[in-house]
Amino acid sequence: MNDTTNASFPDRTPQRVRHPLRFRELEVRQVQRITPHLVRVTVGGDALEGFTSPGFDDHVKLFFPDEQTGVLALPTAGPEGPIWPEGGRPTMRDYTPRRFDAAACTLEIDFALHEAGPATRWAERAAPGHRLGVGGPRGSFIVPMAFDWHLLIGDDTALPAIARRLAELPKGARAVVLAEVESEADHVDLPSEADVAITWVHRSGAARGTPPLLAALHAARLPTGAFHAWIGCESAHAKALRAHLIDECRANPKWIRASGYWRDGSAGTHDSHDE
Ligand SMILES: Cc1cc2nc3c(=O)[nH]c(=O)nc-3n(C[C@H](O)[C@H](O)[C@H](O)COP(=O)(O)OP(=O)(O)OC[C@H]3O[C@@H](n4cnc5c(N)ncnc54)[C@H](O)[C@@H]3O)c2cc1C
Repeated sequence: MNDTTNASFPDRTPQRVRHPLRFRELEVRQVQRITPHLVRVTVGGDALEGFTSPGFDDHVKLFFPDEQTGVLALPTAGPEGPIWPEGGRPTMRDYTPRRFDAAACTLEIDFALHEAGPATRWAERAAPGHRLGVGGPRGSFIVPMAFDWHLLIGDDTALPAIARRLAELPKGARAVVLAEVESEADHVDLPSEADVAITWVHRSGAARGTPPLLAALHAARLPTGAFHAWIGCESAHAKALRAHLIDECRANPKWIRASGYWRDGSAGTHDSHDE
């Protein structure tokens, strides 16, 4: 293939990368309240040596100490997968590695706070010295940059992934972001070298019925050209957003990655709505 052909048909095939499975026991170093509904917990420890997270929407499994006994029971990595502790599977939830600092051996996780759940309870009470288990990431999904523009849609749980994507998009790239939070007080900085248009969508005051992000997508004036769409939010909403992009915005289904980061009424879910 010569250069001209490459420029006309850039490779837009996502790559999957596998990582060796590891479970790490870490200690809370710092807790910051970023917004009324977002807590950043920085964990650290020598066990983070070798940690890697090349994909902006990678996830780790977080393991929390038993709420009654305070015991943190972690699986070990076996050749076929995790070997669970004798007492059964500990409570675990999926979170995005927001920022890894290899020199300092620290990892930041941003917790979107909602009404109930062990992860939310743990984050609300987290303090330096508390223990947290981290498993993975087991794999990464690398979305190419070679699109005319990038669409990122998500609620507060997806802000870490969206922030990572915006931080890695180069100068000259173009991105449109629809981000759902409770209110203006929950906006966060999303630095990027790319040309980014952000629409903040507020749950408070949104009309009942249509999911706020779907209403925002209906109203959005989107650029033309080939685009990759990434969606992370409540599962039924993610599915509806994906359908709208395919039916109404002529999105290529192969260039959409839509995930249910949580499911209304169910604990600890992770739904993929991709083909
Ligand atoms: C790949 C992946 C990456 C993720 N990354 C992050 C991240 O970086 N930061 C982050 O905050 N979350 C992230 N999430 C979402 C997070 O895993 C879920 O919100 C999780 O359910 C929270 O656990 P919990 O123990 O607080 O609540 P659960 O015990 O799981 O759920 C209790 C109840 O709360 C509801 N619920 C769960 N989440 C929410 C919510 N956000 N808003 C309203 N109700 C909710 C459930 O429907 C259930 O009824 C990610 C999810 C996935 C799949």
